[in-house]
Amino acid sequence: MLSMLVILSPFLQFKAKFVERIAPDKWYALKRHADDVTHIFEPFIKEFYRCNVWHVRGRDRDMLVDSGMGVVSLREWVPLVSERDLVAVASHTHFDHIGCHHEFECRAVHSAEADILSTPTRASTLADPYVTDDIFEALPPEPFCSKCYNVKNAPATRLLEDGEVIDLGDRTFEVIHTPGHSPGGIALFEAKTETLFSGDILYDGPLIEDTYHANAADYIASMERLLRIPVRVAHGGHFPSFSGDRYRLLIKRWLNEKQKN
Ligand SMILES: [Zn+2]
Ligand SMILES: [Zn+2]
Repeated sequence: MLSMLVILSPFLQFKAKFVERIAPDKWYALKRHADDVTHIFEPFIKEFYRCNVWHVRGRDRDMLVDSGMGVVSLREWVPLVSERDLVAVASHTHFDHIGCHHEFECRAVHSAEADILSTPTRASTLADPYVTDDIFEALPPEPFCSKCYNVKNAPATRLLEDGEVIDLGDRTFEVIHTPGHSPGGIALFEAKTETLFSGDILYDGPLIEDTYHANAADYIASMERLLRIPVRVAHGGHFPSFSGDRYRLLIKRWLNEKQKN
């Protein structure tokens, strides 16, 4: 009897892990940063797949950079994002970044990925092949199902191009087109605080350069351009935020690796 329990127990542990569902009020966590920036994240998604959602307070309106996977309503469970007028920007249109965009009236994306935001498919957002039960530490509430998961349509109300500005009244963010990871990737730079929201082109973790719409030459050009921006603090699409020194080190290291190959 004892031996049978020993044999069964790893299986039971495995099952127990995947039937656990997290209540919607526990799905999101928030962390305040300097300069009225708040990091919103989904702790029950494994770190590599977990997108950073950034909320920035402005005088006249707020800005949201990305909106998470969309498996729990951001508007309903994170009051910070529904308190005031807000523009929801997409750093790019992979599933982990745009899942709650449909909940916001004002939606902005680079023109090169406007079609994906308006009519996302499992393939175009990379939900297929990435979304399986395995990307979660514990599953989202019912009725979530990995195989049925898809991002909801959220046609942009503003199309962004390189050099345009997102104006929050007392603070402005310049759109920097950074293709490479995906064709419509953007970073947002606030010169006043030397803060950059970099999306997935650069973060402090393993970068993804082989998506179906990635482009190696564009990636290098984007990195070279990013290196010239006087960044003091960078908030990436994944993994923890980092200093300007770390930012320049990561870019130089990445460019050096490319030159070797
Ligand atoms: Zn991405
Ligand atoms: Zn991502």
